[in-house]
Amino acid sequence: MSSCLFCKIIAGEIPSKKLFESDDILAFYDIKPMAPVHFLVVPKKHIANLLELEAEDSALVGKLFFKAQELAKELGCGEKGGRFIINAKKDGGQTVDHLHIHFLGGRALRPKLTSWFLG
Ligand code: AMP
Ligand code: ZN
Repeated sequence: MSSCLFCKIIAGEIPSKKLFESDDILAFYDIKPMAPVHFLVVPKKHIANLLELEAEDSALVGKLFFKAQELAKELGCGEKGGRFIINAKKDGGQTVDHLHIHFLGGRALRPKLTSWFLG
């Protein structure tokens, strides 16, 4: 989708700090990190949000999560963990309409609904 920010990153039209790339996935650091480790994992296919997932894309979401946890471990968060987040649409606070998993780690995040992320 030509107007989508993450599609532009995937196409290389906007620079990003890439962590991983394959035929169907891209992972890059969030431009405004909210934790010492904060990256995003996105499908190269434009899927607007999790609520618009089609059955044929369910395996792709599994791949996104598998890569996210692999990268989290590579970046030193395997032992202490972190938070995997997907915001969806307006009420979820989604600001970029291209499906993405956030991973935040490297510090203790507030446990309940008090953090900035969970509102
Ligand atoms: P969300 O609010 O869940 O839609 O998350 C969108 C995320 O994309 C935010 O955490 C932004 O900081 C991040 N973001 C926006 N523009 C860029 C960019 N050019 N490169 C990397 N991350 C970005
Ligand atoms: Zn897109």
